[in-house]
Amino acid sequence: MPGQEGEREGVGEGGLLKGSRVQKEMADYRISRLLSLAKESLNKNSPMSGMGKRYVRIAEEISSHYKVGIPKTLKVQVCRKCHSPLVPGVNAVVRAVSSGGYVAYKCECGAERHIFYK
Ligand SMILES: [Zn+2]
Repeated sequence: MPGQEGEREGVGEGGLLKGSRVQKEMADYRISRLLSLAKESLNKNSPMSGMGKRYVRIAEEISSHYKVGIPKTLKVQVCRKCHSPLVPGVNAVVRAVSSGGYVAYKCECGAERHIFYK
């Protein structure tokens, strides 16, 4: 079952290196890896199809467990409401609201995120 794989990749053997810098780096690496997997999973032809929210959740768990932040550039690409990875043209509509100085990401669940670029 593919779900089990994700779990192991997510929060597995890190315990061996508890509290070390290496561990944080690993956590960082895993978070960006998981979020890129999450995006890939939106491709219907991908073997990970439908796993997107799960990958995002694992990334969030790692983030809070190891107290490392999700990089801002990656964080904006996740829906706050349904935790799907947001990929413009796939499950998200992006429009720039220049008068407001932000970009609106509208998720397929209906939630909208406003990313201010100023
Ligand atoms: Zn959503």
